[in-house]
Amino acid sequence: MSQRILIVEDNKTLAKLISKKIETALDFKVDVAYSLSEAKLFLKMYQYFITLLDINLPDAPNGEIVDYVLSKGNRAIVLSANIDKDFRQTVLKKNIIDYVNKGGVNDINYIIQTINRLQKNQNHTVLVVDDSIVFRKQMQNLLDNMYFKVISVAHGEEALSILNTHNDINLVLTDYHMPVMDGLELTYEIRKDHNKNELAILAVSSNKDNEVNAIFLKTGANDFITKPFSKEEFSCRINNTIEALENIQIVTNHANRDYLTGLYNRRFFFETMHEYQDEMGEGGEKFAVAMINIDHFKKINDTYGHDIGDKIIIALSEILRSSTSHRDIVARFGGEEFCMVLKNINRYSALDILERIRQEIEHFSYQIDKNNFIKFTISIGATLHEDENLEDTIGNADMMLYKAKNAGRNQVVFA
Ligand code: GH3
Ligand code: MG
Repeated sequence: MSQRILIVEDNKTLAKLISKKIETALDFKVDVAYSLSEAKLFLKMYQYFITLLDINLPDAPNGEIVDYVLSKGNRAIVLSANIDKDFRQTVLKKNIIDYVNKGGVNDINYIIQTINRLQKNQNHTVLVVDDSIVFRKQMQNLLDNMYFKVISVAHGEEALSILNTHNDINLVLTDYHMPVMDGLELTYEIRKDHNKNELAILAVSSNKDNEVNAIFLKTGANDFITKPFSKEEFSCRINNTIEALENIQIVTNHANRDYLTGLYNRRFFFETMHEYQDEMGEGGEKFAVAMINIDHFKKINDTYGHDIGDKIIIALSEILRSSTSHRDIVARFGGEEFCMVLKNINRYSALDILERIRQEIEHFSYQIDKNNFIKFTISIGATLHEDENLEDTIGNADMMLYKAKNAGRNQVVFA
């Protein structure tokens, strides 16, 4: 069920325009209120992902709506035609997310981008490192309001230990002056294990340390922000940093993943496997390699068309992915052929897993429409990686696949 957005705006045309644009561009249910009293009724019924508030309403001419909405635990973006600087500062002091001009097409696009950003922020965890409880709380509060997941700690050492146990942190916000390990040392330590493209660091320095910012950047910080900062500068810098990270992620995914299924492609499979083997060293843990191929796939294409063929490939990918643990690797080598690596496993357990996958496919039906479904089977050739190189192991698995096909298909042959 989609979440809700509340627009409180007495200009009905504008309210409807924004509402329509949001519903077209984003997956939200939008409620529109034209006055404070109407808004109160909605707020009694629903909790909102975000509210968009006009501060000049017939029954609330001085921004009273903002305090009311915040007091009900909702987040707010203020819409205003008022560009008076002092007024803007007064409103920004309240615990709102943003202050946005209204009226122009660009303004509405900005609102939509902001909401979109807030939605994506939910996927990111930010680690705040500051020995001052006041600043820590302030940053935590701002980030929390922006829908980030936040962990905050008081020291560099604590930050490092949190990073060791949480692999979902995307951004570290670190103060400079801290006892024992300062922000620069922390940045230096973090960069030993995490590069700029996977974990961003934003340095928070005081305006008295004017040389420190450059050193922070040279040590590996992605950006810096100087205390005291405005809420708007803070959120813009955070958002820019996170967006850069997301864009790199998109490009990396394009390079490493197969477009149709989202599985690793052949090139990245070898890259990641070589890394894994280097990490394990000689005589490292045992792993199994399986080559998986759809039986008589050409017939499916010929009978139902290429598009349905693609859907079958996607369905199989999903089953392969969900049948393996997160450490295992599933790659699409091409066409209807997949390679799977089951890590830290013996022959007996590997055979058991592969046999279960084979059976799952045998019992699976791909539904084309109400009355039609397709059934298909797969053949699997597998072997345990011993001392030979990876290419040879894959060659052996391929040979076993060939045997499985020759022996009548729909079976697992383990060397
Ligand atoms: P076998 O049981 O021996 O594996 O027979 P098969 O028909 O599955 O094998 P064959 O190699 O003869 O045919 C594979 C077919 O897969 C031929 C090719 O057109 C089709 N194919 C390859 N890549 C794709 C793809 O991305 N999408 C679709 N729909 N078909 C593909
Ligand atoms: Mg085939």
